[in-house]
Amino acid sequence: MASNDEMVDRLVRKGLLRTESVIDAFMSVDRGRFCTSNPYIDSPQPIGSGQTISAPHMVAIMTEALELEPGMSVLEIGAGSGYQAAILGKLAHPATVHTVEVVPELAKMAENALESAGIGNVTVHTGDGSIGLGEEGPFDRILVACGAPKVPPPLQEQLAEGGMMLIPVGRRYQDLIRVRVTGKGFSKENLGGCIFVPLVGEFGVEI
Ligand code: SAH
Repeated sequence: MASNDEMVDRLVRKGLLRTESVIDAFMSVDRGRFCTSNPYIDSPQPIGSGQTISAPHMVAIMTEALELEPGMSVLEIGAGSGYQAAILGKLAHPATVHTVEVVPELAKMAENALESAGIGNVTVHTGDGSIGLGEEGPFDRILVACGAPKVPPPLQEQLAEGGMMLIPVGRRYQDLIRVRVTGKGFSKENLGGCIFVPLVGEFGVEI
């Protein structure tokens, strides 16, 4: 598979990409800018520091499930390569997407890749995202791109009224959980199994 367009076509044919704005976002962000090895194959790839860029199908599933609309405030935990953040940036425009990365080298790389891809509305923060980013919240959408032992309370508290969070919950294998803020509190829904690198930090796994 040799091009970003072909990768996107395949995700559409599989039914993983369905919404026009999401398909457009995937078309307009070249995954090759965020990953040098086999960028258009549907699998995770190493990005250094022992971390990986998520597989395109997982980015597609999460982005579709996030029901993101222009102008929404968005927080991502685990910038990694910056690819998912770039897609979120396209969809949330003109709002700013905040993404937090705990490994400084990766945060720098993500920042450079986002700049080279011409994405101007994503801010990369270096630090422990398991405590969220209170000073920029509350958020309409939170996407956690690493596996958490349980939903970190600060992230739940930083969800806006009517907000939604997607978070892989579990140890080695996780379930993708969708948390919604309802009138009565929070509702949780299991969207299926997934495998992400662990969330570290205060509300992450013990290492
Ligand atoms: N969204 C990324 C893939 C993320 S991989 C992409 O599109 O490429 C998960 C990332 O989460 C890794 O880079 C890892 O360093 C980071 N991470 C793990 N625990 C974290 C924490 N507590 N705060 C912020 N980032 C964290």
